[in-house]
Amino acid sequence: MSLLELDDVKVHFPVRKGILFDRTVGHVYAVDGVSLKVEAGQTYGLVGESGCGKTTLGRAVLRLTDITSGQVVFDGTDLAKLPDEEMRTFRRRLQMVFQDPLGSLNPRQNIESILSEGMAAHKIGEDRAERREKIKEILAKVGLPANALSRYPHEFSGGQRQRIGIARALVLEPDVIICDEPVSALDVSVQAQVINLLEELQESLGLTYLVIAHDLAVVRHISDVIGVMYLGGLVEEAPSDALYAAPKHPYTKALMSAVPVPDPEVEDRRERILLAGDLPSPANPPAGCRFHTRCPWAQDRCGTERPTLVDLGDGHRVACHFAREIEAGTVEQTRSTG
Ligand code: SF4
Repeated sequence: MSLLELDDVKVHFPVRKGILFDRTVGHVYAVDGVSLKVEAGQTYGLVGESGCGKTTLGRAVLRLTDITSGQVVFDGTDLAKLPDEEMRTFRRRLQMVFQDPLGSLNPRQNIESILSEGMAAHKIGEDRAERREKIKEILAKVGLPANALSRYPHEFSGGQRQRIGIARALVLEPDVIICDEPVSALDVSVQAQVINLLEELQESLGLTYLVIAHDLAVVRHISDVIGVMYLGGLVEEAPSDALYAAPKHPYTKALMSAVPVPDPEVEDRRERILLAGDLPSPANPPAGCRFHTRCPWAQDRCGTERPTLVDLGDGHRVACHFAREIEAGTVEQTRSTG
């Protein structure tokens, strides 16, 4: 069994109206039937446009948002059904690193206070002195000086604040860290340092990561397996190299075609795929394949029948009725891509 297994997870937020907001008039289908597995020690990268549901899915794993249905099995226990008190034990083992380090750190608390808060709540360390020693050890691991203890979040740079965010997760000795856009608020030069740090920590501490990001280059660098989300669903999943070498879902093809080739000496011969229209609202998703309103290869069947993920070999799973035909060039384009 995998360390973390999601089975048909749905997160539907009710849309309420009326003077007391007591009338449900619809739902936002933020996450709509996602199944995936994350192996121990692995990094699973989750990518997709803003609004595709990837952050909601990360929060659902930690039960920071209510799960409408489905299973989130961590180390053999379904967290989705766990009473709140029992969830406390698991909260320590599953931690989150947020996108905005400044926004997630209380400006009125010094670093020792921020880091020891969770330790005290989870009864890590006998007393303050023991917790302080542990914090110093973790600060050294994330590349911050011991004198950071008495300083406040505003005294640090963006990159250092993200290191504090990582340290706050590490002091609780987690098994899994969900990193939500861990470097998107940082300068490019600092991004690489934080990514390298995450990789070093994974190696030395045996951590498992679920990395949520819109930046495909970041996800490629750090992930073993990548899942691509579109409008609440997983449309493709594959080992990182296989996904980048040969994306099979039309949406992934379009995303990849927009990523610049990193070497300026290499001529970029890839076909650009520009998608028609905007991302539909998750409150009113299209019937059938969610991508059919923008897909260059959409056929009649796509408007009525929702495709499921099918393994096309070597763990490359694709949710598209015509993935094989598109690859073989035996299905006509029905929309321009330029
Ligand atoms: Fe495009 Fe149809 Fe495949 Fe959806 S199922 S991605 S609309 S070809």
